[in-house]
Amino acid sequence: MDPLKGFQLNNVQSHKNRNMGKRLLLIVLVVFAGCKGTSQEEKKETAKETTFKVSKTDAEWRAELTDMEYYVLRKAATENAFSSELLDNKEKGTYVCAGCGTPVFKSDHKFKSGTGWPSFDREIEGNVAFDVDYKIGVARTEEHCAVCGGHLGHVFNDGPSNTTGKRHCINGAALDFIPDGN
Ligand SMILES: [Zn+2]
Repeated sequence: MDPLKGFQLNNVQSHKNRNMGKRLLLIVLVVFAGCKGTSQEEKKETAKETTFKVSKTDAEWRAELTDMEYYVLRKAATENAFSSELLDNKEKGTYVCAGCGTPVFKSDHKFKSGTGWPSFDREIEGNVAFDVDYKIGVARTEEHCAVCGGHLGHVFNDGPSNTTGKRHCINGAALDFIPDGN
């Protein structure tokens, strides 16, 4: 056998292998680009959530909130009716967001709705933001802390007709109470 021929053959063979390698690399790149596309979309989602002045990662919220606060504020869960200690609180003071301490409701605007959730006829303007949610199939006005985005509850139009007519149905777990003079 001509030693040179053997060399050329090997050379052709390794050239083929290299081409195959390139093709594999291309496939890997395409798959990788696909993954990258997804993670960029996820990033956009996160960016949407982090437009709030106070913004923390999910892990940070998880670490600093109680279970109930976390599920209500960060996962928009609803606490069980009649479960909040703040439900029958009649003290004068301010209700602040349990996530970031922003004042969101005043005791002066609290009323007994009989629903089992702390209820207010108005929010502290500017500190609460609103959204529409279709979680139960019908449009409801969701409300959340304007500073950290923490979910507070929903607003309904069956509040006291002698004041605003609005019922802000709020999870007590989303609130901390600061009595006047403190
Ligand atoms: Zn907040």
